[in-house]
Amino acid sequence: MVAIDGPSGAGKSTIARRLAARLGFTYIDTGAMYRAVALWASRQGVDTSDMHRAEQLALAAGIDLAPGRITLNGEDITEAIRTPEISNGASKISAIPGVRRAMVAKQREIGERTSVVMEGRDIGTVVFPRADVKIFLDANASERVRRRHAELAAKGLHISEEQLAREMRERDERDSTRADAPLTQAPDAVYLDSSGMGIDDVEEAILKIVRARVTNGKEIV
Ligand code: C5P
Repeated sequence: MVAIDGPSGAGKSTIARRLAARLGFTYIDTGAMYRAVALWASRQGVDTSDMHRAEQLALAAGIDLAPGRITLNGEDITEAIRTPEISNGASKISAIPGVRRAMVAKQREIGERTSVVMEGRDIGTVVFPRADVKIFLDANASERVRRRHAELAAKGLHISEEQLAREMRERDERDSTRADAPLTQAPDAVYLDSSGMGIDDVEEAILKIVRARVTNGKEIV
């Protein structure tokens, strides 16, 4: 089990996906799960501050993570959850303890069944505090905005860098200061600043950390 946490735009998804492929593990994007709940809430007209209804939706949501795709109650929502509105909604709805409880239970179930590279905000601290390897992946704010801007532009979503920077700042602030499972580095996580690093270098650096750790007395790669 490899846990990767960090703020938005640090490169967690890209790295976790590549790492999972290298290790033969399953890649789990936990942010996509919160985004799925936020999308459903928005479609149902449920306010992201309505704790009771949001928890009910989170418990009832049929979320499936197939490689590279996510479905909600049978519908492929892979692209629909990648808008700035849903980023914002996910950050709000994920502050609700009942929503987190429902998602953490699903995440533990997946992680106990199979070897995973799981990325999010609280994987090394709350979901799998005994993960074999924990990485806290960071990058400076301007680099994170630049990466996220390029990612959105590649999908045809054009938003000014200023607005994106503001939204990302708000989201990271909310994710880091909420009462339940805020974004924070686990004491035993390795901190990695990917600013100025190419994706291959980040991948190699993490693989080195993974190789240096052992599970059940034997190397896992
Ligand atoms: O990683 P991503 O940006 O897709 O996550 C969307 C939002 O979901 C985050 O801003 C955060 O509020 C929430 N999240 C969380 N815990 C996780 C993963 C994501 O609270 N493990």
